[in-house]
Amino acid sequence: MRKPKIVILGAGYGGLMTAVRLQKLVGVNEADIVLVNKNDYHYETTWLHEASAGTMHHDKVRYEIRNVIDKSKVEFVQDTVLEINKDEKKVILEKSEISYDYLVIAIGGEPETFGIKGLKEFAFGITNVNSSRQLREHMEYQFATYNMEEEKKEERLSIIVGGAGFTGIEFLGELTNRIPELCHEYDVDFNKVKIICVEAAPTVLPGFDPELVKYAVSQLERKGVEFLIGTAIKECTPEGIFVAKGEDEPHEIKAGTVVWAAGIRGNAIVEKSGFEAMRGRVKVQLDLRAPGHDDVFIIGDSALMINEEINRPYPPTAQIAMQQGETCARNLAALIRNKTDLETFKPDIKGTVCSLGEDDAIGVVFGKKIMGTKAAFMKKVVDNRSLYMIGGVPLVLKKGKLKFL
Ligand code: FAD
Ligand code: NAD
Repeated sequence: MRKPKIVILGAGYGGLMTAVRLQKLVGVNEADIVLVNKNDYHYETTWLHEASAGTMHHDKVRYEIRNVIDKSKVEFVQDTVLEINKDEKKVILEKSEISYDYLVIAIGGEPETFGIKGLKEFAFGITNVNSSRQLREHMEYQFATYNMEEEKKEERLSIIVGGAGFTGIEFLGELTNRIPELCHEYDVDFNKVKIICVEAAPTVLPGFDPELVKYAVSQLERKGVEFLIGTAIKECTPEGIFVAKGEDEPHEIKAGTVVWAAGIRGNAIVEKSGFEAMRGRVKVQLDLRAPGHDDVFIIGDSALMINEEINRPYPPTAQIAMQQGETCARNLAALIRNKTDLETFKPDIKGTVCSLGEDDAIGVVFGKKIMGTKAAFMKKVVDNRSLYMIGGVPLVLKKGKLKFL
């Protein structure tokens, strides 16, 4: 009898978790499992702010996919997904095509630019290993060039961060630690550097605990960050940005580096493939399948689930993507064994920790507020946990953050 073919697209938190759990649940004779990813490595998206600022080498955030999968059960295909043809049950890849009986779409999200002019062209993003490298190297180039130019352009030393959500704040935390090093490396006067964070909402980290937000803002301000709150980026140009507060006329702020960290949307491929989506995210059923497509699971940043307690979508996080991967693997194992009662996914949110650099953080864990070194310690525990869940102790020993403070 022909074995069912399970194809998993994306080896991020959701996809890789599905693959490593499925390889434990399913026997070699029960299914063919194929994992497709554009790179031969997985990267820890949750560490990219460190690689982007230059406080961590980019190789530290990635590891080889083949080292964590059981090659006797999972075939790895390095290729880029272009489109999903759900009527013919096949995936169009850059170099080939692949048919499936069951599909898991876990190709993550992409930056949401809300159609703001110039952002795609001129702003940097913290989205993958290469964008992080580009941002880090661009900032270094600006510092190096400033020093070599006869006519000094002070704006080369201005860095604007758009968005004071968790990504923006975590990047600022790293950046404030990196700037003194950059100044030293490139013989630049620290007082000439400007770090400006522009946030459209009336507060930094909208919706997070106000006491912790106050702590984060004061720590970052102390290290030189200027916050423009209730101010929206309206346009990005090669010279900087235009911002406006409320109904005010937009005005220009010149800067050599603009980083856009103001939210994400689902992967465009999902919408392009004909799935009904809101900001690129498909509202999935409780069993994580796409409505009307019993053979397609969508998990991670391209999936949308409503938190009924507050009637708002769950935020797109690694925590949820990994938990969805676990449920998805169990549901796939059930389906290939012809079971019809699939598990309902219920997120188990253990908390949120937002780093403010190597040795500082804020967080709410199991309902308790934490800040400072205790929170920084907890952040490293969380970071190591995701490695442990995918590759066990060997992966933690190889890639983990073992210097706790
Ligand atoms: P991803 O982990 O992004 O993986 C997607 C995978 O698909 C990647 O391997 C990618 O290469 C691959 N892929 C994409 N397109 C294609 C294609 N066309 N073809 C083939 N492969 C493709 N969340 C938390 O819970 N805690 C945190 O502390 C946290 N910190 C964060 C810090 C930063 C700086 C950022 C940017 C995000 C952070 N998040 C955090 C959010 C979290 O990283 C995402 O929610 C999570 O990565 C989503 O997982 P995913 O599996 O959907 O996608
Ligand atoms: P976000 O949507 O959480 O925050 C984006 C911020 O940008 C918002 O505060 C928004 O008001 C602001 N913004 C939007 N448009 C703007 C404009 N035109 N000008 C200025 N500001 C503007 O996005 P994020 O921070 O990238 O986070 C994405 C997801 O990843 C979230 O679910 C988050 O929880 C998760 N994440 C978690 C952690 C963590 O747990 N430590 C870290 C990073 C990201």
